[in-house]
Amino acid sequence: MAEARHDFYLLTPGPLIVPAEIKAGMVRDRNPGGSDHIAITRGVRDYMLELCNGRDTHECVLLQGSATYGVEAGFLSLLPADARLLVLVNGFYGNRLREVAEAARVDTVTLELPNLPLPTRADLERALDADPKITHMVLCQAETGTGVLNPVEMFAEVARERGLGLMVDSVACFGGVEIDVAALDVDAVFVSPNKCLESVPGVAITIVKRSTLLASEGRCPSGVLDLHAQWKFMQETGNWRWTPPTHVMGALGVACERHRREGGSGPRLERYRRSWRVLVDGLRQRGFRTLLPDDVAVPIIATFHDPDDPAYSFAAFHAAMLRRGIEIFPGRLTAMGTFRIGVMGDLVEEDMVHVLGQMCDALEEIGVRLPVSAAPGDVETV
Ligand SMILES: *Cc1c(COP(=O)(O)O)cnc(C)c1O
Repeated sequence: MAEARHDFYLLTPGPLIVPAEIKAGMVRDRNPGGSDHIAITRGVRDYMLELCNGRDTHECVLLQGSATYGVEAGFLSLLPADARLLVLVNGFYGNRLREVAEAARVDTVTLELPNLPLPTRADLERALDADPKITHMVLCQAETGTGVLNPVEMFAEVARERGLGLMVDSVACFGGVEIDVAALDVDAVFVSPNKCLESVPGVAITIVKRSTLLASEGRCPSGVLDLHAQWKFMQETGNWRWTPPTHVMGALGVACERHRREGGSGPRLERYRRSWRVLVDGLRQRGFRTLLPDDVAVPIIATFHDPDDPAYSFAAFHAAMLRRGIEIFPGRLTAMGTFRIGVMGDLVEEDMVHVLGQMCDALEEIGVRLPVSAAPGDVETV
């Protein structure tokens, strides 16, 4: 059995195992108005734009909070009063986008689809034809509730053809899966430091089309979630409007250096893919079935059907794994009867060999016989 490289494996789809080098970046106390912190803020904003080809067309605005704070800030700051927002809901996080939009009093309609098949152009055009008042659309790029990679390019194409605004929740996959904001001409992309960028949580990263941002001055009904005001202040002073998360930014600065050193998003996703392969192949050999076929899955997380064995319960499996220093995640409501394993963070193939060995051990301990029998049903939709 492969050796553990970490004392504790947090295999949730974020927060995740933050590399020690990145955590070390938050040890120093920094003056928010000092040149050190200001340079880190500038460097992070530049690197985010570099990663998505946004330097000529977009701005990066940072905000205190988790990634969802950025989503709500984006809705409140960037949508005009007469906007009607179409939200793609084909999983848990699509539904969360809807919840946040409704809480922000946005006029919201949904395109509700099953986890699979992926949304088609016809699905989208039908929804838009049925409601000509729709002015904007939002969707998750990677729907972490299932692990599906949604067709952002198709949405962008339709948005361009019809002159609609488009926002993308790339929270789960930014820094792994590529997105070209200039080519797609998106209004906003929402990003987390704590998924593929492998840093600590505490800052919401938004990438906003410059013209959209400039047009939003004075629009936001919230003081602290005003992206334009935060951006303007940062442009003028280099600093943040309220106390910045200086330690979080220290870590994120190191995370950017580390991401660049690894070779950027492509090589990072390849590392995840190798870990994901070990996990998916290993569990399939033991009778497990994935929720998704491989061709629509984004290799940052894998979702498996619960084994069809009376001795199995997620709670017992989770507890047995925790005793082995490994924490796994239950399925979301949109994918009941499943469990999920994230492969983002400080993980390589050897770690997944270790995890796989421990999973077999844990299943045996709770009385589940291997190979497990496949869960019933072949149609992989809700
Ligand atoms: C993790 C995740 C979020 C939530 O981000 P928070 O940092 O918890 O606010 C939103 N969308 C997707 C697709 C995610 O994977």
